[in-house]
Amino acid sequence: MENFVLSAARKNLENVGYLDLDLDPGKDLFQEIERLKREKNAIILAHYYQEPDIQDVADYIGDSLGLAQAAAKTEADLIVFAGVHFMAETAKILNPGKKVLLPDLKAGCSLADSAPAGPFRKFKEAHPDHVVISYINCTAEIKALSDIICTSSNAEKIIESVPADQPIIFAPDKNLGAYLNKKTGRNMLLWNGSCMVHEIFSLEKITRLKVRHPEAKVIAHPECEDAVLRVAEFIGSTTQLLKYTQKDSAQAYIVATETGILHQMQKESPLKTFIPAPPTNNCACNDCPHMKLNTLEKVYLCMEYELPEITMEENLRLAAKKPIERMLEISRKAGLIGG
Ligand code: SF4
Repeated sequence: MENFVLSAARKNLENVGYLDLDLDPGKDLFQEIERLKREKNAIILAHYYQEPDIQDVADYIGDSLGLAQAAAKTEADLIVFAGVHFMAETAKILNPGKKVLLPDLKAGCSLADSAPAGPFRKFKEAHPDHVVISYINCTAEIKALSDIICTSSNAEKIIESVPADQPIIFAPDKNLGAYLNKKTGRNMLLWNGSCMVHEIFSLEKITRLKVRHPEAKVIAHPECEDAVLRVAEFIGSTTQLLKYTQKDSAQAYIVATETGILHQMQKESPLKTFIPAPPTNNCACNDCPHMKLNTLEKVYLCMEYELPEITMEENLRLAAKKPIERMLEISRKAGLIGG
């Protein structure tokens, strides 16, 4: 029979976001997680912004596009999604028959939250002739209201796949949308959303860092504000930034995106120097507070007890699946992902 502590933790799950159970500090969580993976035919998909310990136990580490593709292809029975809520939802949309777990249900996303379904539906209804392209960082409800999903890796190709004279709504990130308007020469109508992490970088502090480290190249994610993008020598998705630092000849980089990616950059190029771009104040705001809610302990707990689980109403799932499949199809045709 289930013990009292466990059943209390289950009852409290909605409030806390995870099973709040004490773990024996002597437990080797790395070993335990490997055991659970084998016993349950489980796979851990982790975003680059996860803490280093989680990246080290993951079977696949990637950005949103890579993770969506890995989720679509996996043969595991249990998917542990070490990322934020909309990412785990995407995995569930693509794998209705599989159990999808998120280590902490409260790992949300300020960007996804900036596009609530009700107001967005009205916005769309006010522009009925527009095609809706939504960045993958949005809820299942927003996906269901979209025609095509995109990520920062494939956004340009997705936009180019739409006829030049077709008006487009782009949601939810206004910074990425403005950057894409510049790159593609389109005039997409932008939803006014943004990511709290990518808006926090201080141009002034980046400029000061650049004076101290003139040899370092500034590289940035397109969710950053225009002022930061203007001083960047390379702009790209998380994966593109990582690949750039591997191939490029510079020895130092000032990295304007969430700091989690620095772990992989340093692993891939141990002799290079990576400096996180500083935020406007002295907090650790360039760490995504949502992503960092997941911990190795919570990964272990969710695998052991198979909670918290992502569930979704079937009509919503089917409606949200269409624009994701459209994205995967266009990305395949453009050679951005394998067959
Ligand atoms: S870094 Fe920004 S966009 Fe990414 S999960 Fe965190 S809040 Fe959302």
